[in-house]
Amino acid sequence: MKVEDIKKICVIGAGNMGHQISVCCALAGYKVSCTDISQEMLDKAEAFAKKWLPERVSKGKLKQEKADMAMANLSFTTSLEEAAGDADYVIEAAVEKMDIKRKLFADLDRITPPHAILATNSSFIVSSEVAYSTKRPDKVCNMHFFNPALVMKLVEVVQGAHTSPETAQITMDLTAKLGKTGVLLKKEIYGFLVNRILAALNSEAMFLADMGIATPEEIDIAVTNALGHPMGPFKLVDFTGIDLAYYIGMERYQNTRDPKDKPSPLIVEKYSKGEYGVKSKKGFYTYE
Ligand code: NAD
Repeated sequence: MKVEDIKKICVIGAGNMGHQISVCCALAGYKVSCTDISQEMLDKAEAFAKKWLPERVSKGKLKQEKADMAMANLSFTTSLEEAAGDADYVIEAAVEKMDIKRKLFADLDRITPPHAILATNSSFIVSSEVAYSTKRPDKVCNMHFFNPALVMKLVEVVQGAHTSPETAQITMDLTAKLGKTGVLLKKEIYGFLVNRILAALNSEAMFLADMGIATPEEIDIAVTNALGHPMGPFKLVDFTGIDLAYYIGMERYQNTRDPKDKPSPLIVEKYSKGEYGVKSKKGFYTYE
């Protein structure tokens, strides 16, 4: 297969990542079927596209014809069979839970055409963890977008030992077709490049807050003003989801059994109160 053979992309999950990845692929001219187990999330994703595309047109950032094409390319369904049955490429962006992802990859292997590539957008889970739920591990890789996917340019493509060079190349080519900048990792490593670097910064920031050295707000002020980051670690975790930070920490701890990999006490406290950040209107900050 070549990148030119990709006509239809299936995006699994209509959450934080999936709804924007869908629009991004539709804008690049692909037929996109976005699927989720939640009709509510699909409705929100569709409403987002219907609002965001015309807004870009009125701001002069997008041609009307391109917005119309993108909208016509998009479809939303709770049926995995309908979304993935004729897909050439699948981007899985469902919740960060290993059992759910493994089940999805097994189902996708059964449902999708034999040539289809199955990629996961997971932030931390390497694709070898899900590839062997399928009979086509050579066609499985990581394709990791950043949040918000319509804005952030980078995509990390990870070629595991099971991933064929062809799959890695097509994924890099698809990344370029989507107008993104790809970096190819030739070996799997938990957290890839950017999140490993970010995790080192975040864990120090959480430690400083847990110790009561400074408040989250003060730490964010320090990081934005001294390091020039557009947002501090606490604002960022509110944005990416405190629930996600909790799942990632738990998943990592279950793998390593190293207590320092557990989510920080502040993250556990926020998670148990249901304060997930922007999506629940309260996290380290409060949102309207
Ligand atoms: P989210 O919680 O916002 O959305 C996840 C969606 O998956 C939900 O709408 C949920 O209903 C759906 N879902 C759950 N089980 C499903 C199933 N079996 N089939 C279909 N849909 C299902 O999560 P998110 O932040 O969009 O993260 C999704 C993936 O993207 C995760 O693997 C995460 O690691 C990765 N990721 C997240 C970010 C980020 O900043 N949030 C960045 C890069 C990558």
